[in-house]
Amino acid sequence: MTKTLKGIAASDGIAVAPAYILVEPDLSFTKHSINDVDSEISRYKKAVSDSTAEVEKIRDVAKKSLGEEGAQVFEAHLMILNDPEFTGAIETEIKNSSINAEAALDKTAQKFIKIFEGMTDNPYMQERAADVRDVSKRIMAHLLGKKLPNPASIDHEVIVVAHDLTPSDTAQLNKKYVKGFVTDVGGRTAHSAIMARSLELPAVVGTGSITKDIKDGQNMIVDGLDGVAIVEPSDDQVAEYKQKGEDFLKQKAEWAKLKDKPSVTADGKKFTIAANIGTPNDMPGVHENGAEAVGLYRTEFLYMDSSDFPTEDNQFEAYKAVIEGMKGKQVIIRTMDIGGDKHLDYWDLPQEMNPFLGVRAIRLSLKNENIFRTQLRALLRASAYGKLGIMFPMIGTLAELRQAKGILNEEKDKLIKKGVKIGDDLQVGMMIEVPAAAILADQFAKEVDFFSIGTNDLIQYTMAADRGNDNVSYLYQPYNPSVLRLIKHTIDSAHENGIWCGMCGEAAGDNTMFPILLSMGLDEYSMSATSILRIRSLMKKLSTTDLKELANQACYVSETAEDNEKLVNDFMAKLNK
Ligand code: PEP
Ligand code: MG
Repeated sequence: MTKTLKGIAASDGIAVAPAYILVEPDLSFTKHSINDVDSEISRYKKAVSDSTAEVEKIRDVAKKSLGEEGAQVFEAHLMILNDPEFTGAIETEIKNSSINAEAALDKTAQKFIKIFEGMTDNPYMQERAADVRDVSKRIMAHLLGKKLPNPASIDHEVIVVAHDLTPSDTAQLNKKYVKGFVTDVGGRTAHSAIMARSLELPAVVGTGSITKDIKDGQNMIVDGLDGVAIVEPSDDQVAEYKQKGEDFLKQKAEWAKLKDKPSVTADGKKFTIAANIGTPNDMPGVHENGAEAVGLYRTEFLYMDSSDFPTEDNQFEAYKAVIEGMKGKQVIIRTMDIGGDKHLDYWDLPQEMNPFLGVRAIRLSLKNENIFRTQLRALLRASAYGKLGIMFPMIGTLAELRQAKGILNEEKDKLIKKGVKIGDDLQVGMMIEVPAAAILADQFAKEVDFFSIGTNDLIQYTMAADRGNDNVSYLYQPYNPSVLRLIKHTIDSAHENGIWCGMCGEAAGDNTMFPILLSMGLDEYSMSATSILRIRSLMKKLSTTDLKELANQACYVSETAEDNEKLVNDFMAKLNK
């Protein structure tokens, strides 16, 4: 039966395809003693050989869709499955304790995980704990007759349906087959939604119940323009939405005409529209959409895509590729922002009650100086290949900024002494995403070359509303005058101190926010590459003279976010008359 669900529009576009449900099965079991040890061992051995065959298949598909590097993790899994020390220990446990294979597997796996996790002086071996966990889960699923989902093994067109998608799940989605995704939970600025936009995958998040409302393989529509998911649509609905998808593509074709045009207002004022990227693989999208700079390179994805900490040389190559790819145009690379909703399988960090308020981003880098210094050296070396800006995320105090800059300068001096060339144009900036930093922007502005406002976090911290929690999405208000005042103060402080100010949060590419930001004189607008041409087209219609009063009204006259939506709508309606 047809069912329509409303969610949050997370990434533009329409797709129609069967659902692929990505839900972890329940792998709980009961421990019991067994009489026939031999048949229990054969049952266990069969689960291992079935798991091996499955992982080999997944590895082959992953190699084709994600390349050698993307398939590496599965090679590690095969090594464990073939390791007699591991599999033999489980057999011995079944034999010695006369317990069922599930209980023996669980007990032995926990023992191995503990040993690996304890190797704190060897991050490579520590990382094996995650592999043992994954492999054990797969063997357990076979023992229990359950199936594990695997996004990397998808080999036909689907819409992925999940309770939630982690950024690493999203990174495994192969655009050739995955036509969109729909989740139960999540917000527009959760990282999986941001990645969906850079992959140009239509997405709807926060539907509440899609995983319960659809069965694997049932046909569905995802409308990422209006945030709607339809289960088992009628033929008429399929036709209607296919038309809507085509209209959207036509609109995109109109915007595409602006690809090589400058970003100017109706009264001829020039601004910069830049792209946010997650990996060097996003560069084709940056060029296809006519970005004038890279305003945010989220380097944490480099760490998330690999099975161990990327080496200095690996990082250097990735940064250099992006910097060279921009041919002299500015590239802002942010030091890693791990924590919050971004985790590394190979870095077991302590569980925190409130990860978004915990040891995240610059806090984690300052606590792990060696990892931070490796990244800074890679960045400094890459700076010689173009125009680089290094940016620190989540700075909250001047002390943090000074400490980060101090470490950067130490690494810079060491490299210079060794004769390594550092770019002459290197700039050092910070994100403004903690309200404390926005309030003190006048002081911070004296110590950096630029600001980039991270509204995704600035809004969540100002409104105390988790950016990924749809239950409080009503409080996540980009247009709230409180948020706008912080933004205005940041821009004014930058300009009073002679530095430039950009924005790399999603609000920079928002149609309602944009006229307000332009009115505030924001210099650079960095967004998902797919938003660039839409915003360039909007910029062309707006004149800074007409916009003069808009920012003051939005900050000091309006009382609510809704007032500001109306303010901008009325302004645009007058303009379009
Ligand atoms: C932001 O917070 O606005 C931002 C750009 O950083 P991220 O989305 O990666 O937290
Ligand atoms: Mg942020």
